[in-house]
Amino acid sequence: MVTRFAPSPSGHLHLGHAYSAMFAQSAAEERGGRFLLRIEDIDQDRCMPEFEESILQDLDWLGLSWEKPVFRQSDHLNNYKTALDMLGQMGVLYPCFCTRKEILAEIKGAIHAPHETRLGPDGPIYPGSCRNLPFDERQSRLESDEPFALRLNVTQAQSLVGNIQWNDLDKGLMNGKPDIFGDVVLARKDIPTSYHLSVTVDDNLQKVTLVTRGEDLRHATHIHRLLQELLNYDVPEYQF
Ligand code: GLU
Repeated sequence: MVTRFAPSPSGHLHLGHAYSAMFAQSAAEERGGRFLLRIEDIDQDRCMPEFEESILQDLDWLGLSWEKPVFRQSDHLNNYKTALDMLGQMGVLYPCFCTRKEILAEIKGAIHAPHETRLGPDGPIYPGSCRNLPFDERQSRLESDEPFALRLNVTQAQSLVGNIQWNDLDKGLMNGKPDIFGDVVLARKDIPTSYHLSVTVDDNLQKVTLVTRGEDLRHATHIHRLLQELLNYDVPEYQF
């Protein structure tokens, strides 16, 4: 049994975090397992060393102990790149040149025809404008300096792996529906990874066997399970 607590040092530890950390540690302890800490600091604009320091102090004050050295995402950008390259080779990624403003405008337009707007756990989902760009247009935009994100073509990815499931220790066997999020962003030109990609790669690198996290992140499991299948990773169990 290996559990982990994975805070982002973009602020101080709050009560929800403290609960999650203690939950993960006692889950490991009860089964004679290991408890790991991971610092999720890929967003270098928002993450600060002083927050990391304060989180470590608070965890220590709570009486938690964890294995050293602490795993820091910013030390593993090459692992995210390897995973991204594998997904690229499988043909399940596409570049998306849309700005936030363009996506909102597109969604607003679609709201007048509500059958075209789908809501996901994080709000309206990306309408897929760049999914089927003509080959020449895609190439010339890639060759220019235009910023882009890499999105996962969820429908195509799912057709490669078939049905996905996972074991939720409280709810039992769950069926994956990754398309509820639409085509999620897995990397950007400036930040070459994303929450979904990094946590999936890291839980595999750290050999985590039970993923425990806040209820607010429950839905993310649909995407993480899809990525695990594509990347041929072992499947952990989950508890929220
Ligand atoms: N870093 C995330 C957060 O602070 C949690 C990561 C996870 O458990 O998936 O909310």
